[in-house]
Amino acid sequence: MRIDVVSIFPEYLAPLELSLIGKARQDGLLDLRVHDLRDFTTDKHRSVDDTPYGGGAGMVMKPEPWAQALAAVAAAGGATAGAETTEGKPAKPVLIVPSPAGERFNQALAYELAEEEQLVFACGRYEGIDERVIEWAEEHFTVRPMSLGDYVLNGGEVAVLAMVEAIGRLLPGVVGNPDSLVEESHSDGLLEYPVYTKPSSWRDREVPAVLLSGNHGKIAQWRRHEQYRRTAERRPDLLEAFDAGKLPRADRTAF
Ligand code: SAM
Repeated sequence: MRIDVVSIFPEYLAPLELSLIGKARQDGLLDLRVHDLRDFTTDKHRSVDDTPYGGGAGMVMKPEPWAQALAAVAAAGGATAGAETTEGKPAKPVLIVPSPAGERFNQALAYELAEEEQLVFACGRYEGIDERVIEWAEEHFTVRPMSLGDYVLNGGEVAVLAMVEAIGRLLPGVVGNPDSLVEESHSDGLLEYPVYTKPSSWRDREVPAVLLSGNHGKIAQWRRHEQYRRTAERRPDLLEAFDAGKLPRADRTAF
């Protein structure tokens, strides 16, 4: 997968050189490039913002540097250069625009986006990007405004760090043991069960006996039950949407 991130603070993305995502980049599993939006300005102050039409507080990001930057990364990614989808239409890269006014990012979207060939992230700052950039970009990209959650950050970079990590760890070969992706929170609509390691007794607290029993059927059932209990307690909204009928038959007995 190729990922391009455009930001006025490229240094903010430095953590993507670390840990599993950094290793995936070194191993050639992920081609991730960060671009400075100011490199696409033409004035001597390299300005990227201006006052908002209609008045009001704050500044708005100017359209032209964004158009220049996005056109450059789309062309460099090659996804628009003749590639076709199964329906015969030209394949467009996906442009993710982090925004508190976007669709809420979640694990299902991480799985969906991990299937793409190229993702481009446009990090807004100030009051956001001139809306005409989004309209213009629809011609060249599949545009997905996306929110990390119902709160306001200072810029899109923190959202990009989170989304790239969530998507990147789903790429083949990034996480050493792919089984560890299967039983995680949100993989089947429930939260993960509690986990424990040695010692079995610690500060007068015991690991649940079933986990020491060696009975794999009972352990699986306990874990399912704990998933359900924890989800009901912490995220009843997830439980409402959960369909136990979609689970393998053996797992349904826990519900
Ligand atoms: N005026 C905008 C609004 O109320 O929708 C908020 C602008 S915010 C201060 C600046 C930038 O931070 C946004 O353009 C976006 O890139 C990013 N941002 C802020 N909150 C976010 C969130 N919850 N999810 C994703 N990106 C966010």
